[in-house]
Formats: sequence, C-alpha cells, structure tokens
Amino acid sequence: MTNQILIVGSGVNGLVLAKVLQKKDIPFLILEKNSQYIKNPERTVALTEDSIRFLNTLDKNLDINAWATPVNNMLLYQDTELNLSLNKDEEKISTICQLDKLHSQMLKGLEKKIIMGQEINAIDESEKSITLLTESNSYQGDIAFACDGINSSLRSLSEFIIDEWYYGQKAYIALVEAEHKNEAHQFFSQSGTLALLPLSLEKEYYSIIFCTNTTTDPLNELNTSIKNNAKHLNMDEVKSISGGHDLKHHGANRLYSGRVVLCGDAANSFHPMAGQGLNMGIGDVMHIADNIQEIISGNLRALDDYSSKRNTKNAQMTWIIQSLFGAFGNSAGFTKSILNEGMKFLDNFPKAKEKIIEFANKN
Ligand SMILES: Cc1cc2nc3c(=O)[nH]c(=O)nc-3n(C[C@H](O)[C@H](O)[C@H](O)COP(=O)(O)OP(=O)(O)OC[C@H]3O[C@@H](n4cnc5c(N)ncnc54)[C@H](O)[C@@H]3O)c2cc1C
Repeated sequence: MTNQILIVGSGVNGLVLAKVLQKKDIPFLILEKNSQYIKNPERTVALTEDSIRFLNTLDKNLDINAWATPVNNMLLYQDTELNLSLNKDEEKISTICQLDKLHSQMLKGLEKKIIMGQEINAIDESEKSITLLTESNSYQGDIAFACDGINSSLRSLSEFIIDEWYYGQKAYIALVEAEHKNEAHQFFSQSGTLALLPLSLEKEYYSIIFCTNTTTDPLNELNTSIKNNAKHLNMDEVKSISGGHDLKHHGANRLYSGRVVLCGDAANSFHPMAGQGLNMGIGDVMHIADNIQEIISGNLRALDDYSSKRNTKNAQMTWIIQSLFGAFGNSAGFTKSILNEGMKFLDNFPKAKEKIIEFANKN
C-alpha cells in the first residue's frame, strides 16, 4: 500500500473530497490538467441546504450563507403563463452563488496539495496500487477518485460502461443588472428553458441560464424569449452571452472499477434546468465521507453500497429532469393545457409545495 489517495481534477467536487480527506488526516494529492484556472464570473450554481450544511461543516471559514444570495420564491411559467410559485413561509428555498467564488474559497488551504498541468492519459493498476500517468510523470496511490468532470479521462481509461444522450440543446449564460427581489423565474417554452436567478454582488443581477435548441442566433433568441415571456420583469436587453456547450446526460452503470471511483460529473451529469448537477456531486462526496475508511481501503461492500445508493438517487433525478424536459420543453396544445392546469392546481397546496422544496434540497 502507498497510503496515498489520488484525486484527479480540481473542480469543486475534487476540492470537496480533498477537504474531507484533509479533515481526516488522510494523505492525498490532487492532479489537475490545466496549468491555471479559467474564470467566468457569469457561471452560477444553485446550492441546496444539504450542500451548504456539508460544505460549512468541512470548512467553517466558507460561511456560504454570508455571501451567497438566498432565493425566497421560485416562479415557474409555461411561456407567459405563471403556473406555480414555490416558497415556504418567508424561508429561503435555494441559494445562488458564483461558481468561481465558491471554487476559490474551497481552494484555500489546499493549494499545496494540487499539482497543476498534469493531464492523466494512462493508468496502470496492480493488485496493491494504482499508478496514474501523465506525459512526463507518474503518481502512485491506493485508490484514485475520478473527479475529472463530464468528459472524464479516468472513466474512459478504466472502461466504465455509461449511458449517454444529447438533448439537442446548448446552454448559454449571462449576467444582467436587474432588481430581483430574491425571486427566481424559470420559463419553459418550445425553444427551451430560460432561468433567471437572483444574484447579489455589489449590485443586483439576474444570472441567466438559457438552454435552447436554436441553431442560428442564440443571443437574439434569448432577447426574444425575455421580451415575449418576461416582459413584467422590465429587464434590459442582454448584450452578450457565453457558453454554448452541447447539453448531454451521461451516467455510469457502476461507480467504481478496480481502484478507480467516480465522483461528481465524472459519475453522472445532468441537464442544468433542475440546477442539481453540483449538488448531486456533493451528495456523492457526502456518502464517501460517511464511509471513508471502507471506501479507500477498497472494501467491495462499501463500494457497492456507494454505487447503488448514489445511482438510485441519480436515476430519480434523471427521471425528474426527463419528465420536465419531455413535458414542458416540447408540449403544445392539449397536453400543455393539462400540464398548466395541473401545476396551477398544485399551487393551491402549500404542504405539497413544501414537500417539493424539501426534496429539491436533499442531495
Ligand atoms: C449552465 C450550467 C448551469 C449549472 N447550474 C447548476 C446549478 O444551479 N446547481 C448545480 O448543482 N449544478 C449546476 N450545474 C452543474 C455543475 O456546474 C457541475 O455539476 C459541477 O460544476 C461539476 O463539478 P466537477 O468538479 O464534478 O467537474 P468539473 O468542474 O468539470 O471539474 C473537473 C476538473 O477536472 C479536470 N480534468 C479533466 N480531465 C482531466 C485529466 N485527464 N487529468 C487531470 N485533470 C482533469 C478539469 O480541468 C477540471 O478542473 C450547471 C451546469 C451548467 C453547464
């Protein structure tokens, strides 16, 4: 045994896992392919209560609630029609933060454990250890956690079986200054989904996540969607967008193979309409943290338990997203009016809405 754990990828999930190991005094090394971090202040994530609680217990200096933006109401529309508002007795129902800020806060105290510019391109497993190889270096460990994102190399090198499909949509993001009243708005329409998430920095903004199947001019499509559906929010025209990644889902049938364990986007990735991808990854680490000694010693029962419990949760989330995508993204006519009426009916039942909020905040 080498008594060292290898983490591949220093995205948020890799760093969360590193904090778990650091807290338990377990030696580890993080290998990151990029030689520096690329910043994008427009990238935001919605964090669940479970995520915030867990992150704050790992590092009390994070204090996420002190700097992130609470969401007190989430309004769901089909085109212009408001169907459902999710809120709970003046309590917040979600929290929005810049991904970069979360990442840089998480990095504190881990800098010396990360080796930048190390792209893993081969692995060598023996009975007792695993060796990860880059172009010029090799690193040996007891076990390797693949936290290397949606296109995980470690997952390909270990030949995991995955399910994968494309949504035929791309995600674009933007920040627009606007008074937001701590309310989030999610519009479903035939060209895709438009999320306006409140973000308070030195001023108030909407963080825009626009998932669209348009193939021509997404900026124009976004402004048209805002003009048609969100007129009541009196927003300025969006001047520029970034992103444009093809949206795909993938999920590994099993989350470990030999000495490689998948975690975060490397294990499962989700359409951003539900705002759950990172939270599900943090959920993976929460499970690992509870069973850390068994998992790093390669105990098959513990690894099977991790794989089956997390994949049950992943399957649930995939089902919800597929239902939303199928039902609202593409509905028209008769189906659309039934769905609208169903949502409006649900809007009258605070207890049912509380249950939805509760579910959405559990990783
Ligand atoms: C538009 C959009 C909006 C989203 N909104 C939300 C939201 O509201 N809530 C939410 O929970 N989630 C959201 N998500 C999902 C969330 O952003 C991701 O699930 C999360 O950031 C993934 O983190 P990760 O650490 O698993 O992977 P990544 O952040 O992708 O990190 C992987 C790291 O591994 C490194 N790497 C890759 N290959 C190698 C290699 N071969 N060797 C070494 N290093 C390597 C990469 O450079 C990178 O640093 C959203 C996603 C998108 C696209």
